[in-house]
Amino acid sequence: MTRKIELHENHPRYLSLLTREKLVTGFKRGLVASEGLIAHGRGECFDYLLGEYTTESARSAINVASAMLLLARYPVISVNGNVTALCADQVCRLNRSLGHSVIEINLFYYTREREKLISEEFKKYGLTQILGTDPENLVSIPELESNRRLVDRDGISKADVVFVPLEDGDRTIALKRMNKKVVTVDLNPLSRTALSSDITIVDNIVRVLPQLIERITYNRKYSSEDDLKELVESFDNLDGLRKTLEVMKSQQVSVL
Ligand code: ATP
Ligand code: MG
Repeated sequence: MTRKIELHENHPRYLSLLTREKLVTGFKRGLVASEGLIAHGRGECFDYLLGEYTTESARSAINVASAMLLLARYPVISVNGNVTALCADQVCRLNRSLGHSVIEINLFYYTREREKLISEEFKKYGLTQILGTDPENLVSIPELESNRRLVDRDGISKADVVFVPLEDGDRTIALKRMNKKVVTVDLNPLSRTALSSDITIVDNIVRVLPQLIERITYNRKYSSEDDLKELVESFDNLDGLRKTLEVMKSQQVSVL
């Protein structure tokens, strides 16, 4: 049975509802795991507290993330079902804007079928190579809680910087143990991913990607390598998280 919801642009939750619909459609198409719906709900909750906009701290983290990605020798963009359902097109644009990155599929709740659907979805946007799908090329890395994670020998395994939005904490910590620089997007400033990454952009992925692409284009043109290094070196991730929590607190006070 198909369901049709009427969404009006002047509804206060218009964008949030539209985003939710994208995820539900992705779930019905088999791109998103059922657990992904729950993760999205958790994200929505933090977005509500944030006021559903890009804060100054998030803007600054986006700028620093663009610098780290531009400086990277071999940056890898890691994607899962939620990221695919919400913004596969923008991820492909990000990949093109960098020019020296690759995209790798990494699924927490793995099925061969979902991996195939995700891979096909990216191909629709012109991507010719997607890593993480060839069993011959996967290597295993130890994770916390004793489950194992597979990464591509030509992707995350040899990356210096991994852009891994909406990631689980155990897996982020595993990447840090492999000495990777980790850039994430996570609406929860208290998640283990947010706390253990090098750069955490606390904002909705659908708002982040267009701004990240814009910053990459700008910084490539107008910033020197030294400027970019200076941006990365002076960045304090925990300070950004603290400021974001302050925004969430003051937002509640102003409503009440
Ligand atoms: P952790 O494992 O890092 O301690 P967790 O177990 O609560 O956190 P996961 O389900 O492992 O969370 O990871 C998904 C994360 O992605 C959550 O923190 C959630 O808030 C966040 N998230 C969900 N949807 C979005 C979105 N659209 N944009 C940004 N972040 C999102
Ligand atoms: Mg988790």
